[in-house]
Amino acid sequence: MSVLQTPKPAWKTDDLELFEDEVGKFFTRELAPHVEKWRDAGKVERWAWEKAGEAGLLCMSMPEEYGGAGGNFAHEQIFIEQQSQAGVEGFGAALHNCIVAPYILHYGTEEQKKRWLPKMATGELVGAIAMTEPGTGSDLQAVRTTAIKQGNQYVMNGSKTFITNGQTANLIIVVSKTDPGEGAKGVSLMVVETDEVDGFERGRNLKKLGNKAQDTSELFFNDVKIPTENLLGTDEGQGFFQLMEQLPQERHQIAVGAMAQIERALQLTIDYVKEREAFGRPILKFQNTQFVLAECKAKATMARVFVDSCTQQLIDGTLDAATASMSKMLLTDLCGEIVDKCLQLFGGYGYMDEYPISRLYADCRVERIYGGTNEIMKLLIARTL
Ligand SMILES: Cc1cc2nc3c(=O)[nH]c(=O)nc-3n(C[C@H](O)[C@H](O)[C@H](O)COP(=O)(O)OP(=O)(O)OC[C@H]3O[C@@H](n4cnc5c(N)ncnc54)[C@H](O)[C@@H]3O)c2cc1C
Repeated sequence: MSVLQTPKPAWKTDDLELFEDEVGKFFTRELAPHVEKWRDAGKVERWAWEKAGEAGLLCMSMPEEYGGAGGNFAHEQIFIEQQSQAGVEGFGAALHNCIVAPYILHYGTEEQKKRWLPKMATGELVGAIAMTEPGTGSDLQAVRTTAIKQGNQYVMNGSKTFITNGQTANLIIVVSKTDPGEGAKGVSLMVVETDEVDGFERGRNLKKLGNKAQDTSELFFNDVKIPTENLLGTDEGQGFFQLMEQLPQERHQIAVGAMAQIERALQLTIDYVKEREAFGRPILKFQNTQFVLAECKAKATMARVFVDSCTQQLIDGTLDAATASMSKMLLTDLCGEIVDKCLQLFGGYGYMDEYPISRLYADCRVERIYGGTNEIMKLLIARTL
């Protein structure tokens, strides 16, 4: 039950509401009890992926013929919302489901789809996408990792950093230059099956401000030999265009995550200010508390309607890159603003790690940075002016 009273979007069918209930139970019963342990370890245990696969929650929007559930982005959105609601941080399944699997579905050959997607649906393969390098993030054309064709294989050299699921993933889409002399036209997506190759090394599981249970890592490729059939699709030089085409969904799913955090922050805070007393009355009775939360709720309501509208466009195949950039930028900015205001209403407790609001504060900060920074979003929106 959301703290907001927005109309139910048309895409949210009765079946999806039942599904929502099931997903919520899965996160609360199966994964939430393990979050503290995963935060300490800096990663989610491998069995969680297989458990999600058994529950039919991996590759939900992939066609059934490739092991998926034949759903659409609505299923993915519900998954993201319920994960956030249950406080299951660190489990990078949204990236696996909404980013990595769609690349294979949209650009993979029939053989590649049959080879990888069913194993991603069971959790046997865990996906990651490796674009960012120590020397380049926003400027993707400048990647220096190379994959040079030698006979019937590619030889990959380079390093990546900040890679989500980096310690766990065994199917990594690596953005590489097959023609280092070219810019965008030299970029190809190579699928590295890490269990099958030599020369691949995982570096540090990076210590971060938030998302403590997420294994964001460095990756190294030293003369890694990759069969030519692991080039995603059939032609070299398509990588940059493939990346650009998939950006609307990638960006909007970050917005969906931010929206879920906004709703959780509001709910936690409303509950808290009703209980906590100062000067002999609940702090909700102070006009400042009411005004702050009224403003937050009004902005969140507007945001929810926009998010659900973008989701409808995504399902209909009409969500363009600029609108998805607006969704990512606005929602992640708003999430930072609302979570900060909510934390203030918790007083000192809001700064304590054991209070979920403090974790939300730390966790949501990165959303303005990854998936393309919010400055890059402005560049993309500005092109439509
Ligand atoms: C927790 C976490 C998880 C991540 N997961 C992944 C992942 O799974 N896979 C992956 O490939 N990457 C991942 N990233 C990397 C992320 O996408 C990059 O950090 C991001 O794209 C920014 O790149 P950068 O860090 O190199 O910053 P830079 O590109 O160096 O940018 C630094 C600053 O300059 C600004 N800037 C850059 N260019 C312009 C411009 N043209 N105009 C105006 N301002 C500009 C940026 O907005 C930013 O404020 C992750 C990062 C984090 C922190």
